[in-house]
Amino acid sequence: KKARHSRSAIAYYAENDDIQQLRELRIIDSLPKGLQRNQVYMVYQAKQDIATGRCFQVEALMRWEHDELGVISPGEFIPLAEYAGMIDLVSQWALDQVLAQQAKWRAAGIQLCVAVNLSTRDLDSETLPQEIAARLAYYQLPPESLMIEITESTLMADLTKAVETLDKIRALGVRLAIDDFGTGHSSLAYLKHLPVNEVKIDKAFLKDLEQDKPSEYILEASINIAKKLGYEVTVEGIETLEIRDRLVAMGVDTLQGMYYAKPMRAAELEMNWAKLHHI
Ligand code: C2E
Ligand code: MG
Ligand code: MG
Ligand code: MG
Repeated sequence: KKARHSRSAIAYYAENDDIQQLRELRIIDSLPKGLQRNQVYMVYQAKQDIATGRCFQVEALMRWEHDELGVISPGEFIPLAEYAGMIDLVSQWALDQVLAQQAKWRAAGIQLCVAVNLSTRDLDSETLPQEIAARLAYYQLPPESLMIEITESTLMADLTKAVETLDKIRALGVRLAIDDFGTGHSSLAYLKHLPVNEVKIDKAFLKDLEQDKPSEYILEASINIAKKLGYEVTVEGIETLEIRDRLVAMGVDTLQGMYYAKPMRAAELEMNWAKLHHI
């Protein structure tokens, strides 16, 4: 004990860095196995259409139950996969998973649009649009049954290449959303260069909404401008009725968050479908 106290702060932090690096290496190293062995799976979070109160769309979110490290969140392993040059593997898996599930739902009479999160890195691939088209054809799915969400902050970093790929994906009829809007440095005016259908405003905006008037005005103005530019506006991370009602008053089209539905395994979503879709 005494030895530990006498060690310098630098040594302490260096040791923690090592532990952290070791964890990251293990995550990167075990990712392909995790994907192959079904440790990784998708959960689906319903979005609510405000005009009708019904669910027409779900977002696929990745989960990983690692055999030694326990549950690892996508917030941790996705950036590592990007860093390690393995995001392609993850995204191919995600597209396969989501479209196979989508085909099963269609066959069972469940008609919805599934959104999948892709990385801005994926947009570097010249073959991505063809790969998406080939999968839609394979599963005999209409293109508008797929939505792709791309995070704003990373998209803006390398725009020219990304827009080219996004244009091709959009031309297929696949829907596009800008995710986590407001966390990057782009302005709303910049959106007009992007071929997107939907803007998803980041949940960070909701944090100060209770006490902070300026945040409320910024949020309301962002929603108005995005709608005037012709985008559908979704707000993510709605946790309470109070926040939900205020956002509805601000004119959002779609809401997503724990208040409405938590992310669920496919089977659980099916059990809740009649309720979510108001059949
Ligand atoms: P995102 O796409 O912005 O997803 C929203 C996150 O908010 C999800 O976290 C979701 O579980 C969480 N969330 C949902 N409802 C609420 C709520 O009411 N309150 C709060 N505070 N949070 C809520 P999750 O699942 O941990 O995913 C984190 C991020 O990881 C995602 O952010 C997305 O950027 C990325 N991600 C998830 N799945 C994938 C994937 O398959 N591929 C890629 N490339 N990225 C993914
Ligand atoms: Mg998303
Ligand atoms: Mg988001
Ligand atoms: Mg987010």
